[in-house]
Amino acid sequence: MTEVIETPVSKKRSKKTAGSVKPIRKSNQSAKAPHQTDLIMLGTGNAMVTECYNTCFILAGPGEKLLVDAGGGNGIMTQLKKAGIAICDIHNMIVTHAHTDHVLGVIWVMRMVASAMEKGHFTGCFRIFCHDGVAELLTYMGRRLLAKNQRRHIGERLLIVPVSDGARIYAADFNLTFFDIHSTKARQFGFRAELPDGKTLVCLGDEPFYEGNRHVVSGCDWLLSEAFCLYADREIYHPYDISHSTAKDAAEVAADLGVSALVLYHTVDDNLAHRREDYTAEAAGYFDGRIEVPDDLEIIAL
Ligand SMILES: [Zn+2]
Repeated sequence: MTEVIETPVSKKRSKKTAGSVKPIRKSNQSAKAPHQTDLIMLGTGNAMVTECYNTCFILAGPGEKLLVDAGGGNGIMTQLKKAGIAICDIHNMIVTHAHTDHVLGVIWVMRMVASAMEKGHFTGCFRIFCHDGVAELLTYMGRRLLAKNQRRHIGERLLIVPVSDGARIYAADFNLTFFDIHSTKARQFGFRAELPDGKTLVCLGDEPFYEGNRHVVSGCDWLLSEAFCLYADREIYHPYDISHSTAKDAAEVAADLGVSALVLYHTVDDNLAHRREDYTAEAAGYFDGRIEVPDDLEIIAL
């Protein structure tokens, strides 16, 4: 299915969340420019982490926010609260695949949205874009797990929208192109986003780059790639046995595809205190562009 969906811009301001912790904007960045998009990392870890949250993030455009994945549980509520983002400020979401560390937080997002709709706090619709297998699962989970007065919003204002490989959709300030990453584990979609200022961002999901997607990824400004561990630690973590990359592998792909900047995430959590410097140092040996290895709740100006 290829479709274009116009998303209404929310006029509603976020409710201040008590006790929220301000996300970390890097010290060399000033306030957000008018056409700027921010990448807000809600989580940066792999499926089994306990020292940080599972990889999920928000693309915050000039007017709207796009949530990508939700981690593995109601920790998504904590991360959104810490980021100072109210659920009513999000109207669009992408779910890449149906692994526990990406999809189980979605039922909590659906619950938050439906609850806000019940209370009359939520303006307009909430759309979840995903492939048809994820759509089927989310619909089943929503109908089975949400309370009656919450699940009645599914298909009304809480919309689970199946997208096909190659589908182009306009949502939350971004022109999005979805692509099948050809996962060997579970069917998974990545996406390319054209940002309002003309830059492009590609999310490869949580598995290595598939050569058949070169035309979609090549030359993008920002490449978001998993890097399970350092290549130097491959004998400790065995990333290749579970279809994951190292910082070196991701950097080689970024160099080969001619991208400008690389963001590494979906990592192990054994050494978060030195993750940024270690991953950056290894990747820099193979890629000349900008390298970001963010912590949870870090904001990167794209
Ligand atoms: Zn994952």
